[in-house]
Amino acid sequence: MHVTGVERLFLRLPNWLGDSLMARPLLGALRAGLPAARIAACGPKALLELLEGDRCWDAAIPWPCAPQDVAAALGGRPDAALVLPPSFSSAWHAWRTGARTRVGFAADTRSMLLTHAVRRPARGDLHLGREYLALAAPLGVDAGALAVSALPIANVAEVEDPAVRAPSGPYAVLAPGAAYGPAKRWALARWIELAKALSAEGLAVLACGGAGDAPDCEALASASGGRSLAGRTSLVRQAVLCAGAEVVVSNDSGMAHLAGAVGAPTVVIFGSTSSAWTAPLGPAVHVVQRAPVCSPCFRRTCAIGVVCLENVRVADVHAAVERARRDRAKGAIA
Ligand code: SF4
Repeated sequence: MHVTGVERLFLRLPNWLGDSLMARPLLGALRAGLPAARIAACGPKALLELLEGDRCWDAAIPWPCAPQDVAAALGGRPDAALVLPPSFSSAWHAWRTGARTRVGFAADTRSMLLTHAVRRPARGDLHLGREYLALAAPLGVDAGALAVSALPIANVAEVEDPAVRAPSGPYAVLAPGAAYGPAKRWALARWIELAKALSAEGLAVLACGGAGDAPDCEALASASGGRSLAGRTSLVRQAVLCAGAEVVVSNDSGMAHLAGAVGAPTVVIFGSTSSAWTAPLGPAVHVVQRAPVCSPCFRRTCAIGVVCLENVRVADVHAAVERARRDRAKGAIA
């Protein structure tokens, strides 16, 4: 039985970039299914800014926020709260907003705080985007398809720093980091070999990532005559750089999801996790995964030598890069 009469909806976004981008089909379905409702979304400020172009909500509330901030943004207590993070604290926060309907994933410690605790399938049986879509049903919203259009990039009107400007010619964005852990990070020596090959083919190399990726990005850039932008770009700026790239190659990290979302030809290298569960959404995403029998294990570190990533040769990634570049040449990318 689904609820009706939702005029004020509180939406708690995931904290991670990749998860938020995989939730875009749900966010679009909610906006289309509840056109008259006032929707307030709460999440990390950088994610709210990045997703603003989708126009799926009426008010944005940077996390952390108090229950009274939610009421202020909605003009009253929410009728419903939809909680995407699976944590106890996010369900507890939704309960404290006073929302009479509270929807989220079921879990032993928090289901009692929800009015609609939605059971999840075994990890990897369904794409995470489809798991998120299932959260729409209790609100009477038709979930629709997993497909999404390219993310419109808003908030580009920041100071144009020449140091983070895109090269004038064709370029590749390479993202050798993954905050999750070594079981998602392809070997730096292979990244360098790939970067040299792309540079020899006439692509300028931009090595991108967070501040913690700076040593690897600098090594990669210096070996290929490219530039490292690690830790120097906002999410919106990274999205702009990805959108203009000939190809983006990334470990299974937020950058891969960002590249897929803006419609860039994207190659993503999977290690310990499941591409069936969390492959980036996008029109030109090419997954490279050579899974051994122990995969997926979802570990951050590996006790047996990260065979899943060792199995991925430079030639495998390079072949995927060529397929992705053909997508662009064929006009598959809008
Ligand atoms: S146990 Fe297997 S799947 Fe997990 S990180 Fe190690 S090699 Fe990869």
